[in-house]
Order: sequence, then structure tokens, then C-alpha cells
Amino acid sequence: MKIIGMLGGMSWESTQSYYRAVNEGVREALGGLHSAKVILYSVDFAEIEEMQHKGDWDKTAAMLTDAACSVERAGADFLIICTNTMHIVAPKIEEALSIPLLHIADATADALKNDGINRVGLLGTRFTMEQPFYRSRLEEKFKIEVVVPSQKERRIVHDIIYRELCLGKIREESKDSFRKIITALEKQGAEAVILGCTEIALLIKQEDTGVPLYDTTAIHAKKAVEMALK
Ligand code: GLU
Repeated sequence: MKIIGMLGGMSWESTQSYYRAVNEGVREALGGLHSAKVILYSVDFAEIEEMQHKGDWDKTAAMLTDAACSVERAGADFLIICTNTMHIVAPKIEEALSIPLLHIADATADALKNDGINRVGLLGTRFTMEQPFYRSRLEEKFKIEVVVPSQKERRIVHDIIYRELCLGKIREESKDSFRKIITALEKQGAEAVILGCTEIALLIKQEDTGVPLYDTTAIHAKKAVEMALK
């Protein structure tokens, strides 16, 4: 079994989901007491969040590249970055590594393509919904059309992520807001919706809506398990 390198702590609320998912995945595949081999570097999210909101992406790239290189030195066979947003600096991190990086948008696009989905709604931080690093990858590399919520709705989603979900707060009102926003995406022609932030599945589950949801945490972790067992 290969060793999964994880860059986590963004936030640790979702890193817990990843840790559980890769271990459950390995147990399901191998049975008994088998569990995933993991090297985790968990950052202090307050430092990252401050740089994100100042737009200091170069500094986040430097910090995460250092962390990723320590994961590689510690013996990981490949790396996953346990956040959608910070894939904004994935090309820089990838450049510094000699081990492969399993990109979260690629894993998600594969799942969508397998299910024949060509037009998808995207929920995530403002950075993920508005900047090209994620959407363009889906559109150009995988020919999947991406629709995002209105500006007002994007603000609501962004604020719920940082003010609630990353702090472990789950509120019924926020779940209702997400439901409405998902329905609006469906009205814009989305055949499914990407939960493109690794904390969203802590709030909203498939049973909360009739629109098919693609949880990037679960998809990414599943792909990591497949890669580890290949
Ligand atoms: N975990 C989130 C994501 O998947 C947001 C936190 C971050 O900015 O990294 O985008």
C-alpha cells in the first residue's frame, strides 16, 4: 500500500472527514484491521485565511510548498491538498515536488464525466467560485460547463464557510440558504452541484435536496484510496 501524503488543516474540520474517509476506504477494500498509511501536515488555518483575504497568494504558496516538501521527505508516495481553494497554488506546489499531486478538480471531473454530467453548479469559497483556477480546469480540460450562484449568493456561501463551517458550527438557517441556492443553480440548468469546499458536506447532505451532489471531500479521498492501493 502506498503512503498518502495530506496537506490538511484547511480547515481541520474537513481534514477529519478526509482522515475518516481514507481509513474507511482502505478498510472496505482490504477488510479486517487494515487502515490507510497517512502522513498528514496540518497547518494553522488562521495564518492561511489571513493571507487569502489579503490576496497574498504567493505567501500561501511558499508556506504550503514548504509543508508539502516535508510530507514528501517524510516518505509520502503522493500528495493530496485537502481543500479546493488552496488548489489555487497547486501548480507551484506541484512544481516543487517529485511525487505526484492528485488534483481535487480532476478527481471531481472524473466522477462527473463517469455519470455523464456536462453542466454543473459550483459551490465553494468566493475564490473557488470566482477565480479561474478551478472553473477553467473543469471547462477546458474536461469540457464541463460550470454555473455559479449570483454575487449575493456567493457572498452568503463564502461567509457560511468561513464564519460557521470552518469553526464547526452547523446551523439550520444556513442549511436552508444552501438548499435555496442549490435549487437556483438547478433552475440555471445545472444537472448536479459540486460541493466544491471540503466543509460543505458537514452542512448539507444528499438527502437534503433532489439535485445530485458531488462532495469533493468524499470523491478526493476515494481517489486517494484507489491510488494508494493501485
Ligand atoms: N476547505 C475549503 C475549501 O475546500 C475552504 C477553506 C480554505 O480556504 O482552504 O475550499
